Amino acid sequence: MIRTKTPKQIDKMATAGALVGECHALARSMAKPGATTAEINAAVEKLIESRGAIAAFKGVKGAPGVQDFPFACCMSVDERVVHGFPNDTPLREGQILSVDIGTRVNGWYGDAARTFIIGEKVDPRVKELVDVTEAALYEGIRLMLPGNYLTDIGHAIQTYVEARGFSVVRDLVGHGIGQNLHEEPQVPNYGEGRRGLKLREGMVLAVEPMINLGTWKVKVLDDGWTVVTQDGQPSAHFEHTIAITKDGPRILTPEPEQAANW
Ligand code: MG
Repeated sequence: MIRTKTPKQIDKMATAGALVGECHALARSMAKPGATTAEINAAVEKLIESRGAIAAFKGVKGAPGVQDFPFACCMSVDERVVHGFPNDTPLREGQILSVDIGTRVNGWYGDAARTFIIGEKVDPRVKELVDVTEAALYEGIRLMLPGNYLTDIGHAIQTYVEARGFSVVRDLVGHGIGQNLHEEPQVPNYGEGRRGLKLREGMVLAVEPMINLGTWKVKVLDDGWTVVTQDGQPSAHFEHTIAITKDGPRILTPEPEQAANW
């Protein structure tokens, strides 16, 4: 069942989302050569707790026989696609770091991801991967209007990405979000458009393209969580929580600077 939200409920989600945006601004400021993902994770968790909010990813149920997710943030470097664990390895110039953060504030969730380039010297094709992934997210968002189809989002993302020679991960998809972190419907980043479910005012979706430099195929490491590319080439990930309103898509997880411009 798809739970649509009232404008008042969307405002509550925007409060959770604004905190996610603040967390990303903090992570962005720390994502430099020599920093560790454990340090960034700890700083973000501290910020969330200082607001009386809850780090939404901590304790998310794992697959059968796998521990619950043990950290506030997912930290996925280079060939790690999503769900990587923070660790004490210093980040190096030229790496890319995908950070995924969720919060719960007064019972409502926000969820967003960004990929940061570490340092200045990065392979131009890897920089293009990051830029194209972010642009692809916005290609999807601009179609989030009442009366369009849910499948239009993934079709736009896939078309944009594949025209530039990159590939779309199939195994993981975006999702509805509200008083649960993951709600119906699933939001694939690929496929034919103009079919299936129609978008309606009050739907809130987390759209999250995961885009690879090489093959779209992925596998899960022995920790039961970390998803990596099968060919070991880099992967990027951008995500926003977006409400469909009569005035158009409303991004609920902007960083403070982006909020001013949106
Ligand atoms: Mg998500």
